[in-house]
Amino acid sequence: MKKIAVSAGLIFLGVTIFSNPARAWDDVGHKLTAYIAWQNMTPVARERVIEILRAAPEDAQLSTFYMSYGSQSKAEREREFFVMIASWADFIKDKGFPVRYKTYSNSNWHYSDTFWHFEDGKVVMDADVEKNGFAMDKLDEFSKLIRSSASDKDKAIAVAWLIHIIGDIHQPLHVSAKTTKSYPNGDQGGNLFFLTPKGTPRAEQENLHGFWDSIIDRTVPNTKDECDSAYLDPIGDKIMAAYPYDKEKKDLEPGEFVKWKDESLDIATNFAYRNIEFFKKPSDDYQQKAFRISEKQIAKAGYRIADLFNSAFGAAVVKDAAGKAQN
Ligand SMILES: [Zn+2]
Repeated sequence: MKKIAVSAGLIFLGVTIFSNPARAWDDVGHKLTAYIAWQNMTPVARERVIEILRAAPEDAQLSTFYMSYGSQSKAEREREFFVMIASWADFIKDKGFPVRYKTYSNSNWHYSDTFWHFEDGKVVMDADVEKNGFAMDKLDEFSKLIRSSASDKDKAIAVAWLIHIIGDIHQPLHVSAKTTKSYPNGDQGGNLFFLTPKGTPRAEQENLHGFWDSIIDRTVPNTKDECDSAYLDPIGDKIMAAYPYDKEKKDLEPGEFVKWKDESLDIATNFAYRNIEFFKKPSDDYQQKAFRISEKQIAKAGYRIADLFNSAFGAAVVKDAAGKAQN
């Protein structure tokens, strides 16, 4: 944590350009969430999740991430596969793979916006605004599907989306759409809240959504260009040490997806949009606080994924005579 405080002044030197209106924690945020989940899953749940993911339909190009590198052990291989899958829902946005894109990518499954505005500094919810984003619906659907008698092929897609969506809704800007006179239909999770001066060329613009998506790797950049595991594991271990499972357990609210979303919305309305100005770079203080909040959100997302899979798959898997797993 000390290292982070020291580097706070350098944060904006290493700033990455997030001009594309992204709607996700970036790769680092998602993979950290999955790493933390994996560390808290039971051996039985891990085994079953890997079995399911490897049964994914071929055109989803999901099981292809079960790769092997040199002398890697089976346990390392499985963990890296699981961590990689956290970003599968983003990989498939690539239109260069049209079949995969058309069959599996859904840009509006990554968020569920609640519309609100400030009135004299107070948060007021907007009524009668058209629904925007289906993350919450999909959480409900997929969490039921993984416990059903659906095929492992279908469960694989559900598991991959669950790892991703649970991560996404812990990013406060994925559940929020702030309305103003200029943006009566909301600011698209902060994608329209610009942090760069007016007139900045589009390719160099930065916005509040991207700021939160990429906060971990901007604060703790991968300066040595290390591989995922060498870079991410120590960050994940630090987050788990700062917010241990045993302490967070009482607030994890298993299965209470709406409560998870509301916590995130509370951060958006009561922190993310305060002490920040349009067309201005956030202060170092804001950046540090946002980083700490994000660490805790990532910890909780990881623990909640682990709880969900432990509860769905953690019981001993019974195999029938043909060796086929049964729940
Ligand atoms: Zn996403």
